[in-house]
Amino acid sequence: MQEKDTTQTDPDGSVPVAALTQSGIPVVVLQPTDAGYLVLTPCGNTAEITNGAPIDRAQVVVDPGHGGEWDTGAVGPNGLVERDLNLKLSRAVLEELADRGIPAATTRTFDYGVSLSVRAAFADAHEADVLISIHHNAPTWVRGDGPGSEVFVQSATPLQARADSARLGGLLYEEITTALAAFDDVAWSRLPDAGVLRVLQPDGTDTYGILRRPSTPSALIEYGYLSNHSEAELFATTEYIRVAAQATVDAIDAYLHTDRLGTGIIHEPRSFDPQSSSTPCDDPSLEWN
Ligand SMILES: [Zn+2]
Repeated sequence: MQEKDTTQTDPDGSVPVAALTQSGIPVVVLQPTDAGYLVLTPCGNTAEITNGAPIDRAQVVVDPGHGGEWDTGAVGPNGLVERDLNLKLSRAVLEELADRGIPAATTRTFDYGVSLSVRAAFADAHEADVLISIHHNAPTWVRGDGPGSEVFVQSATPLQARADSARLGGLLYEEITTALAAFDDVAWSRLPDAGVLRVLQPDGTDTYGILRRPSTPSALIEYGYLSNHSEAELFATTEYIRVAAQATVDAIDAYLHTDRLGTGIIHEPRSFDPQSSSTPCDDPSLEWN
């Protein structure tokens, strides 16, 4: 059914920073048009939408890593797919943020691709205080005596954002590793330098685009190893989603409302120069036809 009132501005007459399209896709609003908004699509194209609902400015932006046919992320030995797991955990994080009255928004609502530059632009458009990107790891793993969570933080950003990113990362690392360690029947895996890390490419900038691109203080969390059978079994449980979401929001809450610094900071950066490859991206339909 077509809505009659296609309000294009907030009640105070300003243009919203983002909008939820008729098909439920969050998009950055570039400018109002006669019929609606000109928006940035998930794949970084521009399009006009006519039935967008304004999204209020968010203090926290949650980014479910990967998505869509071309970017599944890791796949566990139990068949659990990272793009789906990240989305499920992100939804639980958003619910917990809402319960605590912290205004939040997400870069991805369903299973479709979103370019890294659009994820970053979405957080920056909100002038958010926090961007967290949710992931589960899958390189070669080695047995560890506790959760091998890794939190990647920003280096190549203005100084204050870098300090903020490190504190955000420290709090996420502290809360998440403490909460996950309570699952004591898991055969964890971890790399020797697991902690709060900066990962740099040869030119000294952040390797990961989701950290390099936004000016919003950001952190990328690898909660654990989906490639490890024991951890993959845990990640498939609703109890894991509940505990991990709660710990994540405890950290965000502490970041926003206390001066705590967190733990786990590794001062020596890891260097990693990925082969640059562009992942195809298919835009979802923004409106019902
Ligand atoms: Zn990932």
